[in-house]
Amino acid sequence: MWVFLFLALITTLVPNDTFARSIRITSNVPRNQKLLLSRDLQLLKTLSVENPDSKLLEIMHTDAVDSGKLEGWLEDRVQYVVGESFKFNEALFIAEPSYSYENLNDVPVFEKATKHTGGNSSAKVIMSNIGVSAYFKGKEQHTLSGLKIPGVDDVRMTSPRVGVVQIGEGLFYLFEKRLPKSPQDSMAKSLARLSTLFHEARHSDGHGKSLGFFHAVCPEGHHLAGYSACDRNLNGPYTVGALVQQLMTESCDTCSVEEKEVLRLNYLDSFGRVIQETSSVDWDDRPEGSR
Ligand SMILES: [Zn+2]
Repeated sequence: MWVFLFLALITTLVPNDTFARSIRITSNVPRNQKLLLSRDLQLLKTLSVENPDSKLLEIMHTDAVDSGKLEGWLEDRVQYVVGESFKFNEALFIAEPSYSYENLNDVPVFEKATKHTGGNSSAKVIMSNIGVSAYFKGKEQHTLSGLKIPGVDDVRMTSPRVGVVQIGEGLFYLFEKRLPKSPQDSMAKSLARLSTLFHEARHSDGHGKSLGFFHAVCPEGHHLAGYSACDRNLNGPYTVGALVQQLMTESCDTCSVEEKEVLRLNYLDSFGRVIQETSSVDWDDRPEGSR
């Protein structure tokens, strides 16, 4: 069985890029995936949500959450979605040979995973925030990174908030086994993909040591022990994704009982990625740079 991971770190071409407000699904995303994601983002605009968890309000720095708030929060952190065939190393370039960064010597601690995705691993990446990877690479070298994004001008990575995420091989296989009868355009699968975007969006936040809200290695005893698939904070991507999915699930009137149960198990799994013993703190969520 596949286990889905998110990482911080595409292919029939469609003539014109699709704009879903300010989140741009770029031209190397296959047409069928582009249509589904555009529909998901459209759905987000009209979503009716009730009784958000107080932690979600705290994380979003607000006293009320509705579809507009959710959409705005996401759009502040994600601008471009690139497809699975996007080659990060080929797209990365130096936009400026020297660049001034804040918190230059205050950088995240990377935990060394002993297990990895890809190859024969059963762990599949759902989505990756490659914008923060590009930003951090520039910061390490005191240069400014750029990304050549298909159908878009060269993008200067002046902040992780520039917001570039990449579709992973797992995104369109979510719940393939557990909800075989629910089509890809079902509400349940749309909500799961939207929650994934919120998870990735959180990787666009952070400051100094918390930059990118990079993941921790799951401890022994966890079902993902050894993988970089946990969080060592109380306000990171797994918490955000779980809280958003919980909110959307419990507010979903059209989801079947079976679909709701699967969504619940999924967000509970995300809550289970927060390492309780060493995660009793919120990380600094102020972003670096500006877009
Ligand atoms: Zn992640």
